[in-house]
Amino acid sequence: MMKERTRRQILKGAGGTVAAATLWPHALRAQAAPRVVVIGGGFAGASCARALRTADPKIAVTLVEARSTYTAPPMSNAVLGGLRDLSSQQFGYDKIASTGITVKIANATAVDTQARSVTLSTGDKLSYDRLVLAPGIGLRFDAISGYSEAAAAQAPHAWTADAAQFDLLHRQIEAMDDGGTVAIVAPDNPSRCPPGPYERASMIASYLKTKKPRSKIVILDAKDSFSMQQLFLNAWQQLYPGMIEWKSPSNGGNATSIDVAKKIIETDFDNYQYAVANVIPPQKAGALASLAGVADRSGWCPVDAVTFESLQQKKVHVIGDAAFAGSMPKSAYSGALEGKVCATAIAQLFAGKTATPTNLGSNCYSLVAPNYAITITGNFAPVNGEYTEVDNSIKSSPLDAPASRRAEDAKNADDWFRTITSEIFG
Ligand SMILES: Cc1cc2nc3c(=O)[nH]c(=O)nc-3n(C[C@H](O)[C@H](O)[C@H](O)COP(=O)(O)OP(=O)(O)OC[C@H]3O[C@@H](n4cnc5c(N)ncnc54)[C@H](O)[C@@H]3O)c2cc1C
Repeated sequence: MMKERTRRQILKGAGGTVAAATLWPHALRAQAAPRVVVIGGGFAGASCARALRTADPKIAVTLVEARSTYTAPPMSNAVLGGLRDLSSQQFGYDKIASTGITVKIANATAVDTQARSVTLSTGDKLSYDRLVLAPGIGLRFDAISGYSEAAAAQAPHAWTADAAQFDLLHRQIEAMDDGGTVAIVAPDNPSRCPPGPYERASMIASYLKTKKPRSKIVILDAKDSFSMQQLFLNAWQQLYPGMIEWKSPSNGGNATSIDVAKKIIETDFDNYQYAVANVIPPQKAGALASLAGVADRSGWCPVDAVTFESLQQKKVHVIGDAAFAGSMPKSAYSGALEGKVCATAIAQLFAGKTATPTNLGSNCYSLVAPNYAITITGNFAPVNGEYTEVDNSIKSSPLDAPASRRAEDAKNADDWFRTITSEIFG
């Protein structure tokens, strides 16, 4: 008895504290601070990192992002239309770092899912308990003969968070002669921001209408129909008569090759001479997805609809455009929500709970002219592990709406962008 009391007394004393800390450091640390590494500081990844901090401040969150400045694609077409500055699309990571998230500006170059570690271009190695991948899209340059990363320096895609690509396209449009043709090559689905190429055509037309009114835009499309098609076609007829021509594959729109030296795009039926070419190739998940073994043969990453955990690798979650999440559109709006849902699920799993299924919404605005926007909304529910459209929930702006409604949607688009970027980056 005496012996027992003495042992307890010893353990309560200073020596006991040291002994316990020496015996249990890993267990204590793992319990107190599970580690999540998030790769990709775009709408999905940065939203997830912030939501993890809110869901459980005990979680040690590290955000890895290749660039120190994020250039947001939503509203970037308005830069081409002369309605916004590129700087209004750009955000840094200081505010995120000030919330207690460790921010590493580096490329993630390797993922070891067995050892649960990530290697960075700086040589650092980060260990994780759970990993979140949000690398956005990769471009299938080889889908169009003659197109490549090098050719994109002459015929920009301007379809990722790369400021140089937006800037190049903007400068080319400003420099072209009146009377030239802007060719936009639009990809098949699934792709990032399905209405984006048509919003882009509209914004370029808005600029050309006043500055270079004899110019034309031709959209060479790999698909036979597109998001909000009738709304766009009606608006083009009303606002830019004769300026924008849309070519479906059955009408010779499918681009097969490009010669950037001669400035010619070849399609199944015709050749198009262009002054400026904006080539948006078909897409897949960002390169990191293949490195981590989470992409399947489609090039996208199948995930569980409740937790966004990869169906290919345990403890690895994929969110945003890289994920194949059933019918969820590849948009910033969806990516930011997916980041939040994934963060909640991870916190629940760390707490030993079952993650709760959540319905998600989507709302995508497209600017057609100054003070003129259209929109498409939808709701999605997890059904048998995949996000599925809720019946009759996909709705787009009415075809016959008055100008006041279009102006209201343009203001809503602006408000949405300001709110979401300040929530994530502010
Ligand atoms: C012209 C245009 C207009 C659009 N308009 C809208 C709109 O109005 N509304 C809307 O909701 N959506 C819109 N979108 C779509 C939206 O931009 C994307 O859906 C959204 O950006 C996807 O977010 P993400 O986080 O998955 O990918 P991204 O935003 O691309 O972010 C991925 C990040 O990961 C980083 N990264 C990649 N690999 C690594 C690596 N190995 N190591 C470190 N970092 C890495 C990249 O640098 C990048 O910052 C538009 C897109 C375009 C192109």
